[in-house]
Amino acid sequence: MEFEHQLEDEEVPVAVVGGGIVGPVMAYILGERGIRVHLYESRNKGLNGSLGRAINFSLSNRGIDALVRMGISDEVLKEAAPYYGRCIHLPNSGGKTKVEFYLGNEKKGAIHSINRRLLSELVLKRLEENPNVKIFYQHQLINIEHKNETLHFNVKGGEKGSNNKKSVKAKFIIGCDGFNSSVRKSILGSMSYYQQNILDEVYHELYLPPTQNGESALPYPDMFHIWQLGEVMMVGLPNKGNSFNIILYTPLSHSRNIKTPNDVLDFFRKTFPDVQKKIPQNQLIEDFFRKTPSRLNIMKCYPYHYGNILFYFTQLSGTDPAPSINTHEHSPIRTSVSRNFSQNSI
Ligand SMILES: Cc1cc2nc3c(=O)[nH]c(=O)nc-3n(C[C@H](O)[C@H](O)[C@H](O)COP(=O)(O)OP(=O)(O)OC[C@H]3O[C@@H](n4cnc5c(N)ncnc54)[C@H](O)[C@@H]3O)c2cc1C
Repeated sequence: MEFEHQLEDEEVPVAVVGGGIVGPVMAYILGERGIRVHLYESRNKGLNGSLGRAINFSLSNRGIDALVRMGISDEVLKEAAPYYGRCIHLPNSGGKTKVEFYLGNEKKGAIHSINRRLLSELVLKRLEENPNVKIFYQHQLINIEHKNETLHFNVKGGEKGSNNKKSVKAKFIIGCDGFNSSVRKSILGSMSYYQQNILDEVYHELYLPPTQNGESALPYPDMFHIWQLGEVMMVGLPNKGNSFNIILYTPLSHSRNIKTPNDVLDFFRKTFPDVQKKIPQNQLIEDFFRKTPSRLNIMKCYPYHYGNILFYFTQLSGTDPAPSINTHEHSPIRTSVSRNFSQNSI
């Protein structure tokens, strides 16, 4: 590929690509160790007034440990809804449920459910206070030339909304740019093993509001809810304020057969009648068609770096193995980066 990008004068010690959740945690931890980091994120800065309605993020103790380290665990947990176990909605039972606590028979050891956009903003806000880290928004990585460790970006929001091109040399590059990682794609040719399976399942994101008097529409508002009928499954993650974010998993063929608003209502009436009664019809229809349903993938590859200089991180459930915020402490990749830095003391 031919690049006519403007090469920055300064060589960056560490370039982290991706400012979702893992990238800012990684940049913060390296910055805390006195390592200078530049973090590049393709999105705009800030929430622009909207949290979106994405699948909630579940934080376990490991994830919370990372936030304690960043000094923002209290702030994050204030915005999260704890859940202590699962509530299984028994199929064709007229709404009967079975409740299982994670620890014994009591409300202990909560997992915390939080809007992922909000979590990302809170970690980014904290990262801005780290003097060793600079954040560059609207920088979309296009490719990396590994022979000279140069990253090529499209920079959005130039004059009259135009895109500029920019190139940056970095001693160390860490990709935290999610499942479709451009960092990973840049080193695909040097991997000895790569396999990606696109699964037959897709998922739709739905929303179950609280009742008119502000109470939870489901019994057990502090549980993870599960409904399953044959190949179709639905899970509900609690939000602060008694609402739930729902994920509906179906085979692609089922999803494709639901084409009209009446099809949506029919499907829910037959498959999950107890939920169908609780979600306002207009909203159920709007949510169902709001986005193209997302595919699920399983990706395996080896190695996870190129030589000693290129590492990448990506999504937990999209890839295997890979760290998420909940697993970063135990990641072999992180240990390796830290070891490398302490030897080279950048
Ligand atoms: C249905 C589902 C449910 C999940 N639930 C959980 C859960 O409860 N708990 C959990 O730990 N994990 C969960 N995961 C996995 C979860 O998505 C990841 O753990 C988490 O999003 C990983 O964060 P990340 O920062 O690596 O990636 P992302 O959150 O995907 O962030 C990547 C960032 O990189 C940016 N980016 C992408 N490409 C570029 C580019 N070329 N240049 C610059 N920036 C770029 C994006 O804008 C984004 O901000 C779930 C996944 C799925 C599919």
